[in-house]
Amino acid sequence: MLKLERLKQISNEILILKESPLYLERIENNYIPVIGEGNCDTQVVFIGEAPGKKEAQTGKPFCGASGKVLDQLLEHIKMKREDVYITNIVKDRPTSNRDPEPNEIDIYAPFLIRQIEIIQPKVIATLGRFSTSFIMKHFGLQEDLEKISIIHGKVFSIDTSWGKLSIIPLYHPAVAVYNRTRLDELKKDFEMLKKLIRN
Ligand code: URA
Repeated sequence: MLKLERLKQISNEILILKESPLYLERIENNYIPVIGEGNCDTQVVFIGEAPGKKEAQTGKPFCGASGKVLDQLLEHIKMKREDVYITNIVKDRPTSNRDPEPNEIDIYAPFLIRQIEIIQPKVIATLGRFSTSFIMKHFGLQEDLEKISIIHGKVFSIDTSWGKLSIIPLYHPAVAVYNRTRLDELKKDFEMLKKLIRN
């Protein structure tokens, strides 16, 4: 099956994921699950936390205030959304922008892993502490896990069934919406990310 078909299959499964604690809220609020978007032949996958209100209303990842920061950071390294794939661990919106619960991460994470295995990226950029913690543990890097304020911008390289993978933890773009220092740190970390991409 082609990559796009396999990703579509994931999308279909999430649409009917009634066991999710967030399913009813999705239906009641007319929300759309945010599966992921971008280039499935990319070298880089960005992983955020969970959709906010705007994302859940449109089905598009990072289309609100954090998304504007993400676009600015991509532009900083001369990349576009079409060059990368953007997704989240949790695919439905947790109410009132609260942190995702462990059981919500558990239910959606297998879909994220399948997305990664389909796309087979060279680089995974985790946005914020939830995706950083999940991805590092999943790829056997739990011993290297530290607070995001310490670990951001560091590169961890591992071997996978599809070849070398670099994981780069980053601050979540939301922290830079009103904070210039964080934006500057994110820009530096994006410059590091750019170096991991092969031309
Ligand atoms: N924050 C996230 O983590 N993901 C989104 O898609 C939007 C905001």
